[in-house]
Amino acid sequence: MTTIEIQERDIVGENLITELVAANRILVRQGVLDAFGHVSARSAPGASTFLLSRNLAPGSVTRNDVMTHDLDGVVLDDDRPAYLERFIHAEIYRRRPDVMSVVHSHSAAVVPFSVVEAPFRPVIHMAGFLNPEGTPVFEISDFAGDGSDLLVTNGQLGSDLAGALGDGNVALMRGHGSIAVGSSLPEVVYRAVYTEVNARAQLEASVLGTPRFLSRGEAATANGSVGGQALRAWNVWRAQVAKEVGSDD
Ligand SMILES: [Zn+2]
Repeated sequence: MTTIEIQERDIVGENLITELVAANRILVRQGVLDAFGHVSARSAPGASTFLLSRNLAPGSVTRNDVMTHDLDGVVLDDDRPAYLERFIHAEIYRRRPDVMSVVHSHSAAVVPFSVVEAPFRPVIHMAGFLNPEGTPVFEISDFAGDGSDLLVTNGQLGSDLAGALGDGNVALMRGHGSIAVGSSLPEVVYRAVYTEVNARAQLEASVLGTPRFLSRGEAATANGSVGGQALRAWNVWRAQVAKEVGSDD
C-alpha cells in the first residue's frame, strides 16, 4: 500500500479537489456514505464558495465531477446537475465561518436516534466532539409542514438546519440522516466516521444496560486530545483509496 503523509497545510488549491475526491471514497469505504449523501470543502479560508461533486453517487466521484458553488447554492460556470441538498452545505458555510468542510449522510446506525426521545450522546472517547448533553435534532416539519419529503432542497430549509446545528459539530435530521462539520476535510471525515461508530456503541450499550455517557469535562478533554489525531486516521484511510483517487497528489 502506498504510504501517504498528508498535512493539513497541503490540502489547498488543486490538492483540495483531489482530497475531496479521496474524502468521498473514504466515506463510502467506512460505511458513512452509500449511493447518497455528500461531502464538501470550502474553497479557502474565508471564501464564500465551496467545492462539491455534481449529482453523483459518492463512490463514483472523480476530480472532473467537482463543481464550485456559491453560498446561495448556485453552481459557477458549470451546467451539470447539482445535488438537490446542496443548500445544506451552502447555509452552514454562510452561518459558520469556522467550518471548512461538511458531510451530510444517511448512515444507518445514526438515523434511529433521530426518531426517538433518547438523546444521541458520546459513549466512547473517540466521540468527544459530540454534545454530551445530546445532539440536536432538526425537526423539518417545524419549518416545512407535514407534507415534505424530508429533504433540504432550498436555502430557507438549509438555513433552518444550520440554525439547529448552532455552534455544534453534529446535528441529526429526523427520519433522514445527519450532518457533521469540521475545520478541515480530515477532521470532518473523522467526525462522520466516529458519529456512526458512537451510534452503534450507544445502541449496543443500551441493550446491555443504562449507558454511562462521557461527562461534559471528559468530552471536552477527549475532543482536544483524540480529535487532534484526525490526521492520523486520514492518512491510513487515504492510503486505502490511493488507487481510486489517482496519483496526481
Ligand atoms: Zn439527505
